[in-house]
Amino acid sequence: MSTIDTIQVSSHLRSKAINVEERKLLITNFHQSKQEEDLTEPPNCNGFGRIRHFKLGTGHNWPLNPLPILPAAKALRKEPGSMIRAQVFQNAVCNWRCWYCFVDFELLKGDRAHSDFLSCDELLDLYLAQDDPPDMIDLTGGQPDLTPEWIPWMMEALQKRRLDKKVYLWSDDNLSNDYFWQYLSESQIELIRSYKMYSRVCCFKGIDELSFSLNTKADPALFDQQFGLAERLLELGIDLYFYITITAPTTTDFSIAIPKLLDRVQQIHPNLPLRIVPLEIFPFTPVKPRMNDTTNDLITGQYKAIEIWQKEIQKRFDSSFAASPITEIPIH
Ligand code: SF4
Repeated sequence: MSTIDTIQVSSHLRSKAINVEERKLLITNFHQSKQEEDLTEPPNCNGFGRIRHFKLGTGHNWPLNPLPILPAAKALRKEPGSMIRAQVFQNAVCNWRCWYCFVDFELLKGDRAHSDFLSCDELLDLYLAQDDPPDMIDLTGGQPDLTPEWIPWMMEALQKRRLDKKVYLWSDDNLSNDYFWQYLSESQIELIRSYKMYSRVCCFKGIDELSFSLNTKADPALFDQQFGLAERLLELGIDLYFYITITAPTTTDFSIAIPKLLDRVQQIHPNLPLRIVPLEIFPFTPVKPRMNDTTNDLITGQYKAIEIWQKEIQKRFDSSFAASPITEIPIH
């Protein structure tokens, strides 16, 4: 199987997606996109934004997803509900091609037909122009960390408008590169470290080298790199959370693969598995044309994987500790 040259593709896409001098980023416009068909509300912010309703899930056959509901409620000092509204902005590039990505691949290649350069001030102008703006902003992708400047630039723009204590900021990271350290200055990293109303969710892709590569189309060797990057982010003291996609071939010996994965995760921090939320994969509209025998099998595999995952969590943690809110699991 040919795989993505992540270093080369990342560098190419970064050059398409950021104008450092003008502090502008290539932001997706959802109008006329396949992703638009899956939105429960029409795009907002002139097409450059969308409102997302994050939900806990049903808990049937799959664990509840407390992200970002619990971290947001904690930061905003609100009682957590079963849903939270967030203003989503999506950058227009990603270096990987996960078959289950709910983003149309046309929106991941830096195509100017579906995107434009905007500054964080311009994004905030659009955000504030709507009735009842949500008190959470989600910077997603794509892979926001191909352009890691987006986070400190948005923090500065929020501070300038005195919104930094009122609006909770959340961003995603696919753990594919070290651009955070390559491109951010010490003062930008310090801003991220010290910013109060910010959390970051990183996504582990797959349970082993094979499932990682089948999921992302990236080199299997990058499976382990994810853990090194997570460790570096953790050392900074950022409020971190993790997703994991556990789609894997049904031929996998899950009773070996899952404990091995959790052992690796616990080398970073013994409590880290409790900050990780497995994501159930569904075939969203952009995903359907990508489905084939292999992906159907990967979807089936995730249900075998989750059974072992849950048993391992029970084995490794005291039940009352494991039931703690995700925000109260110490990892620093
Ligand atoms: S890393 Fe994220 S944005 Fe990129 S293809 Fe995978 S799921 Fe989609």
